[in-house]
Amino acid sequence: MSDIQIVDAPPGVEGAGFFATSLDKAIGLARSHSLWPLPFATSCCGIEFMATMGSHYDLSRFGAERLSFSPRQADLLMVMGTISKKMAPVLRQVYLQMAEPRWVMAVGACASSGGIFDTYSVLQGIDEVIPVDVYVPGCPPRPEAIIDGFMNIQKLVRTESLRRRNEPQYQKLLASYGIQ
Ligand code: SF4
Repeated sequence: MSDIQIVDAPPGVEGAGFFATSLDKAIGLARSHSLWPLPFATSCCGIEFMATMGSHYDLSRFGAERLSFSPRQADLLMVMGTISKKMAPVLRQVYLQMAEPRWVMAVGACASSGGIFDTYSVLQGIDEVIPVDVYVPGCPPRPEAIIDGFMNIQKLVRTESLRRRNEPQYQKLLASYGIQ
């Protein structure tokens, strides 16, 4: 919470003090604890995600219990499983339908690099078609690893400006994927 400072009340003002921050940081903090993930699960890693959402690991503790199956109402795309080359345009379309600011997490070896499926029909990592913010290793990754990846996304959400889309670095990244 280093983005928010507790400031002593000025002389003549009663009370313990007040918080000082910028609107950008306050919104980033709120957004990081209310992400709406879209689970794009195609195979076994999706099962680990189900465990992550279950009561034992309980991703809702991080404010992400509201899964969104509409890209228009999601800000985190979680790709879990083997993505075939035929599926790649669908994944890209889902990504394009998400509004900014949006983040992407590649969960597991298949989504990150094709995993064990080094074959003609499998995409060798979703970053061939869309930009990825966080990679989670494992085949499959345990729920703890998925939660760790999610917390890394939260850090990005807290620190990246609301104006992410307009940042030159991000624009350049999108342009490298042919996205305007
Ligand atoms: Fe299945 Fe392993 Fe690929 Fe995950 S990384 S989808 S567990 S083969």
